[in-house]
Amino acid sequence: MKEKYNLFRKSLKLVWESTPGWTAANTVVSVLRSIFPFLLLLLLKKVIDVITSEASASGNITTILIPVAALALVWFIDEALADAAGFFSSKQAMKFEDHMYDLLHTKASETDLLNFEDPEYYDCLSRAKREATWRPNNILHNLVSLSRSLLSLLLITGLILSFHWLPAVILILANIPGIWLRLHYAGVLYDFKREQTTESRKAAYYNWLLTGDRPAREMRLFGLGKYFKSLFRESFLRQKEEELDILRKRVFIGLVSDLIKASAILVIVLFIASETINGTISLGSMAMFLLAFRQGMIYLKELLGSVADLYEDGLFIGDTFEFLDLQPVISGSGNVNPATLVKKIEVENLSFSYPGNGKKIIDNISFTLNKGEVLGIVGHNGAGKSTLVRLLARLYEADSGTIKYDGEDIRKLDPDEYRKQFSIVFQDFMLYNLSAGENIKLGWIDANDTGRMNSSAMKAGIHDLIKGLPAGYDTRIGNLFDDSRELSWGEWQKIAIARALYRVSPVLILDEPSSSLDADTEYEIFSRFREIVKERTTILISHRLNYISLADRIIVMENGRIAETGSHSDLMKIKGLYHSMFTKQASRFEL
Ligand code: ADP
Repeated sequence: MKEKYNLFRKSLKLVWESTPGWTAANTVVSVLRSIFPFLLLLLLKKVIDVITSEASASGNITTILIPVAALALVWFIDEALADAAGFFSSKQAMKFEDHMYDLLHTKASETDLLNFEDPEYYDCLSRAKREATWRPNNILHNLVSLSRSLLSLLLITGLILSFHWLPAVILILANIPGIWLRLHYAGVLYDFKREQTTESRKAAYYNWLLTGDRPAREMRLFGLGKYFKSLFRESFLRQKEEELDILRKRVFIGLVSDLIKASAILVIVLFIASETINGTISLGSMAMFLLAFRQGMIYLKELLGSVADLYEDGLFIGDTFEFLDLQPVISGSGNVNPATLVKKIEVENLSFSYPGNGKKIIDNISFTLNKGEVLGIVGHNGAGKSTLVRLLARLYEADSGTIKYDGEDIRKLDPDEYRKQFSIVFQDFMLYNLSAGENIKLGWIDANDTGRMNSSAMKAGIHDLIKGLPAGYDTRIGNLFDDSRELSWGEWQKIAIARALYRVSPVLILDEPSSSLDADTEYEIFSRFREIVKERTTILISHRLNYISLADRIIVMENGRIAETGSHSDLMKIKGLYHSMFTKQASRFEL
């Protein structure tokens, strides 16, 4: 209970922070509206009583003008406030949604990269995405609606009690089964939805395979549409059928509770009618009490509905905070000298495993990377090369061992500042459906250096192609939007290299940077490699050993360990793994 109270408090704080003015306006107008139906009832009684007594006796229509005009005025104000409330609530909801998207996006873009290896993180993210942009606001809405219906109900109950206690008691009793039903099924539905998160992510994944642009080629070539359609349907229908099953039971029990309410109405109407026939109450009072009873039923339903909704909100809101409260493991506050590496990066006894997989992917590795050095890393697929790069850039935190940047343990440094020391072309680099120029400038988002953009593109061998596009560097590339030009995979790779070169950073890491380049471009880049990397400290990972041989020093990795290390000639002399890989590759070209 205390936990729920805290969650509600946090939610209301979020709503208030997002837009204090609109939240206040929305709340005040909504609560104000609760007195109008009560005033309308009193005025309606007055009108009927005037019609049935004075006016009909005197035949003078003017005596009813004042109460009718008052009725019309109150009705108008009520309607006008309802319209205003609609606008305030939309405006407030829009501001709140904007605020929540900001929080969600900040959290998702700053959270530890390792989270993306964890299916539980995806479940948590997907639940938060489903709830965050509206659920806290719903809590406010339900609290306002609760106070509004409570106030209205108190006024109406007072009115009914002025007539007789029996209708007031029946009014309350008849609604109890309904509230039990709502509370019970809120819990059942929450448990169901939580269990189904993985299943609905699966359905969303199959949906993406069937509709996304990337899978479209293989879908057609391998004729996979039918297969994935059946997987999607299976997953989709399984969820929906279970949900419908719960709803069906709820409807059935709902019918029973409606029947109880109908019986209550029957008793009350008979009771009020008999009191009128007996002459205990006037016709005006009869109309007022009948309507009051009906209004009372509506308010009670609203009140109980708000209580049940709040209960449901309390169950679901935890999912939003579970995500928003995720704390990064990678942190630190130490200063880093901007864009410098004075001496060296030292890696000492570094080990790392991916979560849920006990195998050490990096197994007790030590080496030093000196300023200005070009270090080549080679090894078979899965040897751990890319993982090592992510550890160096502190995208993952090592399980044990240390990395020192100019003697400073990187765990003490501010991760965002530390990452500014690195520029990396990842193996699975990103394609941005933006202009060619922006695609390069994203490498250093704080700078806007057109000269550097041009020279980076020239070094990567893509400048001429970009110049030839309809709007040069302003041409949007990719295939998602109108007026954009799609590039070949190799051309995208050159753009990614240009992006990395554009970044002003002392350390450059190229992870298989030429895997999709044509032989000419590859030769062109590597023959000017030293000039291109411009004395930056560089790590080059590649399967092309003739290019790796240009490195000052080479590390050969095998099963997460360093198997051999030395210059090309050193490694050729010891006739180990590198020698065998190199000679195999060389023999292929000697035919
Ligand atoms: P390399 O770059 O040398 O080909 P990687 O560093 O990409 O090797 O991968 C090393 C090993 O780590 C692989 O065997 C792979 O199974 C595992 N691995 C890579 N990425 C992940 C990941 N995101 N989650 C779990 N295991 C991974």
